[in-house]
Amino acid sequence: MKIDTNCVQGGYSPKNGEARVLPIYQSTTFAYDTPEQLADVFDLKDPGFMYTRLGNPTVNYFEDKIALLEGGVGALATSSGQAAALLAILNVCNAGDNIVAVNKIYGGTFNLLNVTLRRSGIETRFVDPDADMGEIEKLVDDKTKVIFGETVANPAMTIFDFDKFSAIAKKYGILLYVDNTLATPILCRPLELGANVVLHSTTKYIDGHACCVGGIIVDGGNFDFVGNPRYPMFNEPDASYHGMVYTRDCGNKAFVVKARVQLLRDLGTTMSPFNAFLTNMGAETLHLRMEKHSANALAVAKALVSNPKIEEVRYNGLETDPSYERSCKYYLGRGFGGMMTFCVKGGREAANKVMKNLKLAKIVTHVADARTCVLHPASTTHRQLSDEQLVACGIKDNLIRLSVGIEDAEDIIADLEQALNA
Ligand SMILES: *Cc1c(COP(=O)(O)O)cnc(C)c1O
Repeated sequence: MKIDTNCVQGGYSPKNGEARVLPIYQSTTFAYDTPEQLADVFDLKDPGFMYTRLGNPTVNYFEDKIALLEGGVGALATSSGQAAALLAILNVCNAGDNIVAVNKIYGGTFNLLNVTLRRSGIETRFVDPDADMGEIEKLVDDKTKVIFGETVANPAMTIFDFDKFSAIAKKYGILLYVDNTLATPILCRPLELGANVVLHSTTKYIDGHACCVGGIIVDGGNFDFVGNPRYPMFNEPDASYHGMVYTRDCGNKAFVVKARVQLLRDLGTTMSPFNAFLTNMGAETLHLRMEKHSANALAVAKALVSNPKIEEVRYNGLETDPSYERSCKYYLGRGFGGMMTFCVKGGREAANKVMKNLKLAKIVTHVADARTCVLHPASTTHRQLSDEQLVACGIKDNLIRLSVGIEDAEDIIADLEQALNA
């Protein structure tokens, strides 16, 4: 089936007489007739469920939908986007290992890598996204387990150089992880561009209605772990899971099975069945929403560019944008998404005033849902940074991050214009 059909119907298909709509299995446990049957579930010989911390039918159908949309072999839903990144990293990194990551990434991920994982002995070597291959390769050694980037960096609005980073990942046999939250599989599919693992904060466009915090890890099934000395954890028996050898016992799903039976089991960062139900319902309209977000955002960006009170607009869909060429190369031609940034003439004070005067667009700590919203990174998400660090991250103090919703574009533009005039 094509991707729009999979948004609507992917994952769950009822058998004769079953509920047409994905049911909520609001149950922690699953009943069996014999101990042997349950033992087979534990041994993964039977694909059934045992305990909702490790898996649940509602969550599982949602996982299958997102795996289909991204073109992966399997997926693991988590309690948040942060948990998805944490589990994906711990799936391959132990103390003493390292990660090479682009420095312009989501603030929460930056902090996870730079502070919390560093404290636990997993080092991240940050690199400028524009660094040349030689410079990046200098950061790679025997202990490098992951190369990490985001399809579109927020709020820098730069597009990941898939060709460059996937060439390095392939050359050294290292996993390439890409956070595809803001592009979604409707606009860009990283697994087709050399990524091996795709991460999402489903909190954003996949839910799309700002109802559920959640995350997901999609396994591309396209990485050869067999005999790769960088990843002994996939080739040696796992004493914590009765001697399972993931490559031998799980084939091309080794990555996602290990993340589930080892890390979801131990860390318990599970998505609840109710959140999976709501997020799945959101995903049913993802294809429609992404086209509308994109069309609205392009109209808004064009209106802002020609407004004399605006200093600068960054939107990947503007032909004049530094990332336009790369977006066209890697995006699927269905639009450039709903995220943009703009700088208001008159500095921080003017930016504040504009935000206070917005009516339709609300000030929230969120992006990528149906309702248009704004945020001032310099005083909120990036508040801990000095003025110098802000400049280094490309965040001016008059920069406003705008997440364009799916309302009528004329209303969004009118709201911005009245706020700028005020
Ligand atoms: C929001 C976000 C995250 C973190 O996800 P949560 O669901 O808030 O934990 C990670 N990456 C990106 C790109 C995000 O926008």
